[in-house]
Amino acid sequence: MLIDSHCHLDAPEFDADRDAVVAAACRAGVSQLVVPAVSAATFDMARAMRTRYGCAVAYGLHPLYTAEHRDEHLRQLGDFLANEEAVAVGEIGLDFYVPGLDTARQNAVFEAQLKLARDVDLPVIVHIRRSQDQVLKYLRKWKVRGGIAHAFNGSRQQADEFLKLGFKLGFGGAMTYSGSQRIRRLAAELPLEAIVLETDAPDMAPAWLAGPPPGRNAPDQLPRIAAVLAELRGVSVDVVIAATAANAQAVLGPLGQLRLDTMGDHGQN
Ligand code: ZN
Repeated sequence: MLIDSHCHLDAPEFDADRDAVVAAACRAGVSQLVVPAVSAATFDMARAMRTRYGCAVAYGLHPLYTAEHRDEHLRQLGDFLANEEAVAVGEIGLDFYVPGLDTARQNAVFEAQLKLARDVDLPVIVHIRRSQDQVLKYLRKWKVRGGIAHAFNGSRQQADEFLKLGFKLGFGGAMTYSGSQRIRRLAAELPLEAIVLETDAPDMAPAWLAGPPPGRNAPDQLPRIAAVLAELRGVSVDVVIAATAANAQAVLGPLGQLRLDTMGDHGQN
């Protein structure tokens, strides 16, 4: 199995050709996508990715949309986690890179979701841009059951802290750039059991789509990203594909299979 552990298939960038994007992913050998919602407004669309394509879905309130999140959205999140088949709480976390986000509110929304994750006993998918130590601090406090540190870009020491807490580290487009030396060294040297693959499509275009203009990232790029990881580690791509799929399911549970139901109703989406 080849698993894309982080793909925003529900994003508007795919509205015009989502069936074709899924078909291309299936043709490329991608067996499953994990789709994390980013705000209460996207919960229905994320759920539709499961009903329509069999995707594994997570629900959460993303720090980049902090200004949109209301307390009632936390209650809605609780309802989705209780009543829908969610594999994780995500995408949640802290972003200390993008200016203008209310830090106190980010922290409050993040902590509330960690508490929820612990209450429903689900793993979390965390966004950790310039915020790894603060995220680690909250994870130690709330003791969730592990998860994925998405787009990992920290030090070896921070990586080891996430691993101790039962997390896997997401690697994707960033490691395809020859200038990303720290990420490439980590991808080569961390235990293979620590790593999951992700595209973060439509964002985080790999080097071959960097442009200009930058291309839209899509899950059918995952085999090539897996090949980069295999080359960095000096192992076969089959070894990388099998291990990263096992790692994703070790933290998220059985993830099922992506499908494109060509017999289904094409009147929707
Ligand atoms: Zn994301």
